[in-house]
Amino acid sequence: MHPEVQNTKEGKCPKCGMNLVEQDTKIYQAMRQKTNPAHILEKTAQKNRGVLYTCPMDPDVVLDSPGNCPKCGMELVPMDLPEQEEHTGHKGAEQDFRKRFLVTLPFVIMTMFLSPSIQNWIVFSINFPRAEWLVFALGTFIFFFGGIPFFRAAKGELSHQNPGMMTLVAFAISVAYLFSLATTFLFSGESLYWEMATLISVFLLGHFLEVRAVRGATGALAELAKMTPPMAHLVHNGGIKDIKTNDLRINNQVLIRPGEKIPIDGIVIDGESAVEESMITGESRPISKHKGDQVVGGSLNQDGSLIIEVSKIGADTAIAQIMRLIRDAQSSKPNVQYLADRAAAILFYVALTAGIVSFVVWVFILPHGIIFAATVAVAVIVVACPHALGLAIPTVTTITSTLGAKNGILIKDMKGLEIARKLSYVVFDKTGTLTKGEFGVTDIILAHNSKLQTQDLLELAAAVEINSQHSIAQGIVNETKKRGLKMPAVREFKSFPGKGARGRVNSGEVCVGNRTLMEELGISNLKFPISDEEFEGKTPVYVVIDKHFAGAIFLADIIREESKEAIQRLHEMGIKVAMLTGDIHDVANEVGKQLDIDTVFAQVLPEDKVNKIKQLQTQGNIVAMVGDGVNDAPSLTQSHVGIAIGAGTDVAVESASIVLMRNDPMDVVKAIALSRKTNNKMVQNLAWATGYNVFAIPIAAGVLYPALGILLEPQWAALLMSASSIIVVLNALLLRRAKLTV
Ligand code: ADP
Ligand code: MG
Repeated sequence: MHPEVQNTKEGKCPKCGMNLVEQDTKIYQAMRQKTNPAHILEKTAQKNRGVLYTCPMDPDVVLDSPGNCPKCGMELVPMDLPEQEEHTGHKGAEQDFRKRFLVTLPFVIMTMFLSPSIQNWIVFSINFPRAEWLVFALGTFIFFFGGIPFFRAAKGELSHQNPGMMTLVAFAISVAYLFSLATTFLFSGESLYWEMATLISVFLLGHFLEVRAVRGATGALAELAKMTPPMAHLVHNGGIKDIKTNDLRINNQVLIRPGEKIPIDGIVIDGESAVEESMITGESRPISKHKGDQVVGGSLNQDGSLIIEVSKIGADTAIAQIMRLIRDAQSSKPNVQYLADRAAAILFYVALTAGIVSFVVWVFILPHGIIFAATVAVAVIVVACPHALGLAIPTVTTITSTLGAKNGILIKDMKGLEIARKLSYVVFDKTGTLTKGEFGVTDIILAHNSKLQTQDLLELAAAVEINSQHSIAQGIVNETKKRGLKMPAVREFKSFPGKGARGRVNSGEVCVGNRTLMEELGISNLKFPISDEEFEGKTPVYVVIDKHFAGAIFLADIIREESKEAIQRLHEMGIKVAMLTGDIHDVANEVGKQLDIDTVFAQVLPEDKVNKIKQLQTQGNIVAMVGDGVNDAPSLTQSHVGIAIGAGTDVAVESASIVLMRNDPMDVVKAIALSRKTNNKMVQNLAWATGYNVFAIPIAAGVLYPALGILLEPQWAALLMSASSIIVVLNALLLRRAKLTV
């Protein structure tokens, strides 16, 4: 009941006292081994093109080699093939079912007309000698030709020791056929040929529709693959040559004309244009690109021409990475799926037992003859087929991951998304997340007895900071460049994360950093000639030269416009917001006040950030951490839901379960909305998939027969079973059109 509770030992859930269940069933352990990312990457490297295989009916099954589906036994098909490759892929399986349905249909109709009971029913009769032989021949053909896909899949299921729907189908039609054979050859009596024939017909039709629906649900990935144009204009010996995008190599130069799609990732080396990157980042505003800017394959060039130098090819491109993430997400299961699959496995035995029990009852306890009893048994087994249950969750998760990707939200781990709907606290990193992380220098103040000029102070600080990754360092370096100053060379650079940096410039030692660093250096006299109040809300960087305090550079950051709205929305959703920063209390409180943040954690050292998350968790909160993924990695991992923000095209953020492409806190709100919508769909689907059994199994077993004469015949049972699967898939498909605005 509480998927966030995960324990390495058996026992009871600390929240509700239910027995904890084992997370990996045998199938998933096998699949995990095969879908282990390291294993896949290695294989991908080997094969270069790394084709993965999926089941046409169970989209959550993703393996790296062909074979049978461990869940339903069907033959696996290659993933993400373009539509034109008809005879493999999902389309191949779909067409196979259709072909078998159409070929057997006329014979099924003939069998029906030749059946004495149907002739009786519509008061019509054709009778010729040896008619039963014709019926036998027709039945046999239908049984073998129409039944093959089910027998094959049943064999696959049994070989994985995971009997399920296909085994039941194969069993049901075999029972009907063998019984009919017996009436033809062993004893006289009415056969079940026409019942068997219609059953197979409905199964074929149902599976055709089902595979088709699943293809619709998983097709989005193939659509992503189609986003990059197949051909590119290579700049070659001063001329232009059109070559396949796949043949491009690193450092090739490629021309992109106005209105064309950019074929591959690269750096602009000539030209200027606006580029719309919404397919990759979800950002719909076109972004202007100049020399030196990065462009990504699949984005749309607008008004100008660009020449780019290819910087990434093959599996390294942003699109390829995104596709890989979506595939991974497809095979990462939310916890409810383990539950659904377990229920489906149990339902198999329920179906079998119910079938046998009803047979026994109708033969011995309420004697209605063997034919009646066999028909009832077949109907029970058929109607209880648990396939809808197996489809209920994976169809939703595949659509969720593509819907997310379209909105710039990449889901790496479905378990993270699953918990996101229950969040009670969202913790934001301040710098670069709630604020722009673009620090500007506002003031430079010299110490009382300083012999330096402000320019010298800036130059010396910048000389050290040029080696640092911090956004404060960038602000100082930018200011120096803006003023046209030069930065002396630095040696022995050392960075103190969350504190500052140090280096040797012109034979003097220069330290830059915050108060904590100064205290560690034993420098306490951090007084300025002007009163401190002037600098409220600004971040000071103290500069120390040869152990003497020389002055300070003050910087200010800008709060993102979207932050305020995002926090307001989170509050409306009943979620509290915290801010986590290494910056001083003064600045943090100012930002906290402006944004109406519930809890502010300031002056937290990088290694302590994770403790703040733990602190909120021990108070019983379900916590999401939103950070840039580089220095926030431990906190992202510690939180229930790690959300990496502003990934741009560098989507492979390891420690997060959700990756936001843009740097927009509103996307956090969208991700939570997506989580809630996904959960609603899953619940609906589970209700559909299990609910109908509650009515259908007893009716098929004949509980209404003695009183009302109502019975569910096998072919109707088959129709109902397929219908429930199809309803589940169609219901999941509705999620495609969902809007993530809240
Ligand atoms: P945040 O949580 O805002 O990302 P950090 O933990 O990275 O902050 O840094 C905390 C504080 O340490 C900064 O506000 C700054 O005062 C100081 N600091 C860190 N790195 C540097 C640097 N390279 N130069 C100057 N100050 C720094
Ligand atoms: Mg940071």
